[in-house]
Amino acid sequence: MPTEIFPQLDIPETLAAGPGPGNTDARVLHAFARAGVADHMHADVLRGMIECKHMLREIWGTTNTYTFAIAGTGWSGLDAMFSAIMPGDKVVAFSNGTFSGIDALTLRIKAATPCELAADPLDPCPASVVVINVPHGQPVTGELVEEVLDEHQPKWAFMAHWETGSGRVNDLRGFSDACIRHGVMGLVDAVSSLGVDDFSIDDFPGVAGWASCPQKGLCCLPLTYAPVSFRDTYIETLKTTGAYTYVHNPILEARHWGIVDGADVDKGTYHRTHSGYAVAAFHESLRLTLQEGLANRAASYRLHEAALRDAVATLGCNVTSDMTSLVVLNLPDHLAGREMELVQNCRAEGFGIWPTLSAPVQIRIGILNQLNAGAIWDIANRFAEAMRKLGADVDPEALETSLHKHYGTSVAAQ
Ligand SMILES: *Cc1c(COP(=O)(O)O)cnc(C)c1O
Repeated sequence: MPTEIFPQLDIPETLAAGPGPGNTDARVLHAFARAGVADHMHADVLRGMIECKHMLREIWGTTNTYTFAIAGTGWSGLDAMFSAIMPGDKVVAFSNGTFSGIDALTLRIKAATPCELAADPLDPCPASVVVINVPHGQPVTGELVEEVLDEHQPKWAFMAHWETGSGRVNDLRGFSDACIRHGVMGLVDAVSSLGVDDFSIDDFPGVAGWASCPQKGLCCLPLTYAPVSFRDTYIETLKTTGAYTYVHNPILEARHWGIVDGADVDKGTYHRTHSGYAVAAFHESLRLTLQEGLANRAASYRLHEAALRDAVATLGCNVTSDMTSLVVLNLPDHLAGREMELVQNCRAEGFGIWPTLSAPVQIRIGILNQLNAGAIWDIANRFAEAMRKLGADVDPEALETSLHKHYGTSVAAQ
């Protein structure tokens, strides 16, 4: 029987206005496409990785030697960060939405003893892991972390910096301080905040491990690298206990990035077959971040998020989030219950907004790498149009006035 040959896969250009992935920067795509084929031990590929490592330390404000990146997506970096969790380890995980909920599941899987894992392989509940569920839409506060760490005295504590599921910013200062007070190693999911928020890892010494992703604040979707950073306390612990993985053991993976025995060396050694295309794209996304400057970029996110927030409020929506790359909102009462319908209508027209992925159903509109007045006008107007199609009484003049308030009257819809 002849094998069917499918037609060439065409993927359309959409307006990626969700929590992530963001709009991959044209410079990043160009870097990906223009790289030559060169193997993973070619001098320029290895040099590129070492330069990435240095740029990451700069962007993330850290002197941690073990700052590099894990091939793959956000979960790949998180898996590497969680690799030091051993069966029976005492862990406290704070969950306030979809993503920290999945992180807590990873922690339960890693900390489970063989018996505990076999009892419920996909959703184990080990006795040594305490998951604190904070209701959707609410932040994890420093007071809560303090109280729980004081009660349980774990080896590890986990929190998401920005919980993308509900769009909430959690209290990193409170988390780090509580970890220091109780001698706990903090682990943070910084997938949504890196490249968007202006913060320095070294200001939060209670956090021993950090993991992020390429596709959100770094505008680098072509499957590339998930940044990670570890304090020496983490690496010392990992050295003593080991990890049940070759590929995601941070000590082993770091070697290809030229980090051996806690020190930088001139040249990486083989860990796996890195792609010159991916290295070139990632390298460009880091250059872009440094050229823009994190402080400038963070200010730009604040400006544009405030404009979009006011615009959707003018349309009668209620915003419940406080991240600057995303607004999470409830529709006006008369459209309540029709969130999925609205999101599907938008998506069908190439306007890629998202619902929440766990209850309650809300709408999420993101502005990753959409940092200009024209893009925000476009997003606000497409959203207003989608509401109008569901029967909302949209006032275009009020919407325009609201946008003018942020951008000045000289800026017109583009
Ligand atoms: C997006 C996200 C993830 C998952 O990242 P992937 O790139 O899909 O693997 C994990 N945690 C948070 C907080 C996120 O926003």
